[in-house]
Amino acid sequence: MSQIEEFEGIVLSVKKHREQDHLVKIFTDRFGKLMFFTRGTGKRNNKLKTAILPFTKATYIGDVRTTGLCFLNDAKDQQQYQSMQTDIFLNAYATYLLNLTDVALEDRQPNPALYHKLAASLQEIDEGSDPEIIMNIFEIQLLPYFGVAPELRGCRVCGNTEGPFDYSQTYGGLLCQKHWHMDEHRYHATQRSIYFIRLFSRVSLDQIGSISVKEETKKEIQSLVDHIYDDSVGIKLKSKGFIKKMDKWGSVLKDARNPEKNDRKD
Ligand SMILES: [Zn+2]
Repeated sequence: MSQIEEFEGIVLSVKKHREQDHLVKIFTDRFGKLMFFTRGTGKRNNKLKTAILPFTKATYIGDVRTTGLCFLNDAKDQQQYQSMQTDIFLNAYATYLLNLTDVALEDRQPNPALYHKLAASLQEIDEGSDPEIIMNIFEIQLLPYFGVAPELRGCRVCGNTEGPFDYSQTYGGLLCQKHWHMDEHRYHATQRSIYFIRLFSRVSLDQIGSISVKEETKKEIQSLVDHIYDDSVGIKLKSKGFIKKMDKWGSVLKDARNPEKNDRKD
C-alpha cells in the first residue's frame, strides 16, 4: 500500500546514500517512525535539502508505504532548531533525545504523545531551558516506552505518599522509610534527587517554566536516572556517553557559559 500524505515530522537521523541521495529517519506525528529515501538531496539546489537536516521539524508531503522505504515529495513550515546546530553542548543533548526516541520506538507505530514530548523538549532546549533538566525529564518520562514503570507516586509497598523515600530497583520504585529494611540494596538516594525525580515524572514538558537546580543536585538526579536506566532499560547510547565525556572536559566551558548556575536555590 502506498499513499500520498501530509504529516508533521521531526528528523531523527540522516545518512548519505550513494553520492547524491539520503536515507532520512523521520518521527512523524501520524505514522510513527518511518525511513524515507530522498533522491538528489545531496545536490546543491535540491528543494528538500534543508528539510532533511538534523534538528528539523516540518510539515512533509510524502509517499507513505506500509512496507519498505517511503519517499518525500515536498516540505513546508520548516523549523530548524538553530541553537543545536551552532552550540556543541545543546547539539549533544538534542542528539541524545533523538537517539533515545529512536530506540524507544518501533517502526510504523504511531505515538502522538511521545511525538509531542520530543517536539516540546527540543523547543524548550532551543529556547534556553536547562538542557540537563530537559534531558532528565525526558528520560524519566520515556521509561514507560521501554516497558519500565517505576512507582514514583508513593511507597511501592504501602502506598504512603509522604517521604522520606528511597529508590529500590528490586521493588521497582519508591520505598518509604518504614519499608527501607525490605531492600538492603536500596539506592540510598538523597531526598533532593527523589523530590526532583517525582516532580519530573509528572511535569508537563510544555510548562516547564524555570526549574532551576544546583549543579550538585543535578549530579545526584543524573546518577539516579542512570541507575534506573542501567538496571531496567539496559541500553548504552553513544550520544549519552558523549554527554558524560563532555561533562568532564566541558565543566570549565560550562561555568563560563552559565556563571550564575550556583546562585539560585532549588
Ligand atoms: Zn511504605
